[in-house]
Amino acid sequence: MNAPLPKRASVVIIGGGVQGLSCAFNLAELGQRNILVLDVGYWQGGASGRNGTLIRPGFASVAWTELFKLTVAEWGTWSKRLGENIMFTQRGYSVVAEKEKSAAMLEEGLRVQRSLGVNSRMLTRAEINDLLPAINKSRVHAVQHQPDGGVAPHHAVMKGLLAFCKRNGVDVRYRTKVTGLERTGDRISAVMVGDHRIDADCVLACAGPNNPDIAALAGVELNGFGMRIEAMALEPTRPLIKPAIALIDSLAYFHQTSRGEIMGGTEVPERPRMSLKADVPVMASMAKIYLEMFPQLGEVRILRHWAGQLHASSDFAPLMGEHPELQDFWFSAGWSYGFAGAPAAGKLLAQAIKTGQIDHRLKPFALNRFETTGPIIEAGIVMA
Ligand SMILES: Cc1cc2nc3c(=O)[nH]c(=O)nc-3n(C[C@H](O)[C@H](O)[C@H](O)COP(=O)(O)OP(=O)(O)OC[C@H]3O[C@@H](n4cnc5c(N)ncnc54)[C@H](O)[C@@H]3O)c2cc1C
Repeated sequence: MNAPLPKRASVVIIGGGVQGLSCAFNLAELGQRNILVLDVGYWQGGASGRNGTLIRPGFASVAWTELFKLTVAEWGTWSKRLGENIMFTQRGYSVVAEKEKSAAMLEEGLRVQRSLGVNSRMLTRAEINDLLPAINKSRVHAVQHQPDGGVAPHHAVMKGLLAFCKRNGVDVRYRTKVTGLERTGDRISAVMVGDHRIDADCVLACAGPNNPDIAALAGVELNGFGMRIEAMALEPTRPLIKPAIALIDSLAYFHQTSRGEIMGGTEVPERPRMSLKADVPVMASMAKIYLEMFPQLGEVRILRHWAGQLHASSDFAPLMGEHPELQDFWFSAGWSYGFAGAPAAGKLLAQAIKTGQIDHRLKPFALNRFETTGPIIEAGIVMA
């Protein structure tokens, strides 16, 4: 039996996915006490338990690359800090361009990455043969390779985060829905779970596709919309793909797990947006993309196929920071690369909430950027 919910908390985090738990972990490390995490679903029930687990440091814009360079550095510290092996492996991350225009974008992105100290290069044909021996070379225009990228299985990451939180006094409640938010003047003051009121000094929403609904509970708006993407795992086969890879033109990404399964997904924008049903047209289109790029995959069958939901912002970049209209109401939202980005988001948001200092890497992702600095232009993401 769970203990009754508390009547007050210093920080209430809405959502116990990788974003919410990363923020809780980082806050606890900074000495924050009295943290409460509330999640309507089950542990790993959101996108954090359904994703491709790919991690990369480099993109095409300064804002994304600075954030993800930090995140990769943080990933390298998590096993030690969490006291659990989260199995982060830096097998590299390759971005494949099938078109000349995309190849030019990768070259441009390379310049940005190098100027920020990210280890990255364009692969020669010999290197492509070595790293991606089974790829259909007739389709490959150019490959950008980021040796420090890789993967971390989400089950290991989520287990490490939850275990740390429990050991360090963070109160984490699944199957507990936030149904209301109270405000006093221009600040948020309490969280409602049904009839139960929890006074809060600060509320941080990490509710995935439900983030706009959480904002609405407090009477404010949040940019963005919910969307569904799908993934699948193929039967184990011999080693065919060494790094994690993204096909920037086909909007697909995948890697080969240590068990030999090919695992990853594609974005298929015309399908229904808010559903957890995996559908056959998406599976067929994914299989087609895999086969065209790796013809040998025709030998293996599809093992599993599933869907997950995201909160996407208008420019597909994360929305991180305090709400401009409501004090002490924070968001880590708008995440399409929110598994990879969780260590950096947790670190920077915990620091901002605890000390009031907004790191320069957080500033470009402010919630009101569409009215101030404008959208972030990032051509290196695998989103339509
Ligand atoms: C198929 C697929 C593949 C992906 N591949 C990658 C990848 O390779 N690399 C990468 O970086 N990212 C990937 N992503 C994206 C990544 O999974 C997400 O960006 C990330 O998991 C978001 O984490 P989160 O904690 O914000 O959301 P979630 O894990 O969705 O957690 C949100 C939580 O909020 C809870 N919640 C919602 N409403 C309420 C409420 N009213 N009260 C209480 N709790 C509430 C939900 O129950 C849920 O547990 C992928 C996603 C999918 C679906």
